[in-house]
Amino acid sequence: MGIPNETDVLIVGSGPAGALLGCLLARRGIDVLVVEKQPDFERDFRGESLAAPSVIALRRLGFGPALERHGYLESSGVTMWLEGRRIFHVDYNRFSVGTLPIEFPQPPLIRAFHEGAAGLPNHTFAAGTRFTGLLEKDGAVRGAVLKQGDGTAVEVAARLVVGADGRFSKVRKAAGLDPEIAQAERDLLSFRLPRPDGWALESELVVDHDRHLAVLPTYPDALRVSHNLPKKGLGALRKAGFDSFRERVAAIDPRLAPLLEGHLRSWDDTSFLEVFNAQVDQWARDGLVLVGDASHTCTPTLGQGVNLAFQDVVGLTPLIAAALARGERDGVVRAGVFAAFLAERRKHKDFVTGFQRRQESSLAMSTPWQTALRRARMRTLNALPVKYRVFDRLLNLPHGIDPADER
Ligand SMILES: Cc1cc2nc3c(=O)[nH]c(=O)nc-3n(C[C@H](O)[C@H](O)[C@H](O)COP(=O)(O)OP(=O)(O)OC[C@H]3O[C@@H](n4cnc5c(N)ncnc54)[C@H](O)[C@@H]3O)c2cc1C
Repeated sequence: MGIPNETDVLIVGSGPAGALLGCLLARRGIDVLVVEKQPDFERDFRGESLAAPSVIALRRLGFGPALERHGYLESSGVTMWLEGRRIFHVDYNRFSVGTLPIEFPQPPLIRAFHEGAAGLPNHTFAAGTRFTGLLEKDGAVRGAVLKQGDGTAVEVAARLVVGADGRFSKVRKAAGLDPEIAQAERDLLSFRLPRPDGWALESELVVDHDRHLAVLPTYPDALRVSHNLPKKGLGALRKAGFDSFRERVAAIDPRLAPLLEGHLRSWDDTSFLEVFNAQVDQWARDGLVLVGDASHTCTPTLGQGVNLAFQDVVGLTPLIAAALARGERDGVVRAGVFAAFLAERRKHKDFVTGFQRRQESSLAMSTPWQTALRRARMRTLNALPVKYRVFDRLLNLPHGIDPADER
């Protein structure tokens, strides 16, 4: 389908946030154009952890059959190992939410969102199409300039442009909404290994002084492993050689040693992630709103990226629909309609990033007294019921967003 010259809502980026928003708005009869610079949905080493409220929301929104058809892994809890001892555990079965988090790859998820809008004449998806600039008039955003796969530029007028283009958002930059970047203390290098039979289906954090591995069971039969490295430390790590990297991983978690030999063969099997938080003071302007990683890039701690994106989308959908229904056909959606909602979102995002910062500082501890103190603290926390309250708030956010009316 060709790119229209005008639309109600132009969504830049077809990650989990943009694809879901496009589907939900189109189902409400709103004209939507979703553009994605990649030619397909393929992507690896992204957030695959869907928290229980996200799973519940997706089922209420009608994506349950797509989840079942594809298949997923249910995660039963989170365990933390410190210097070889299992010190901390949270059992997800104890939460009153009544649904377990799942591990579900991004490509089929994004595909399910597009299939959810398939056949709707008001939903257009343009793959291989890149956002290059905003169209602005009288201080409001009125549309965007796009570059198609064959190099031709096209201008699209829109009543609302949504920046769903991820952690290095070009829409955010073009709108002058500069983020404050808070670098984490370390970056991550990730890889996959086959999952041995009988491996517990829970997230594990395996820590040895200031080195750690996050080991996540991954659909269908893998482990996704992330290892921390110092900022700008990739060069030194590579210089030390691949064997040395494998030895380093095996020293942290000896259970992985027999898997590394045949299955982690070269640096090509690894994926680097620069870890940072991006804090943007303003998430909306007249005619423009940011969602997902574009508005609040988080670190991968506790896998909250996709969940925060869904919460944004489910909450913004009725606000966008109401604003479009109220306004003149050529009028822009004003930033004010999002103000109260975005203020609430910011509070939750600050809570999540605050937790992530504390967790990352704790993981960076290296001296004997620091690590002994960390062990004592985690052991104490493990014995206290308050751990369930903290994790419940983090993972099972009672955000008051009810997707029931989106079907
Ligand atoms: C390499 C990487 C590894 C990650 N690992 C983890 C992890 O281990 N755990 C975790 O919880 N989270 C992880 N995340 C974060 C998680 O994937 C995101 O939080 C989640 O995908 C957010 O969804 P989103 O739709 O907001 O953005 P994204 O999923 O980033 O989607 C943005 C989309 O916009 C497209 N785009 C970008 N620029 C343009 C443009 N100019 N024009 C058109 N399209 C454009 C991109 O191609 C992309 O498809 C990772 C992210 C990355 C990038």
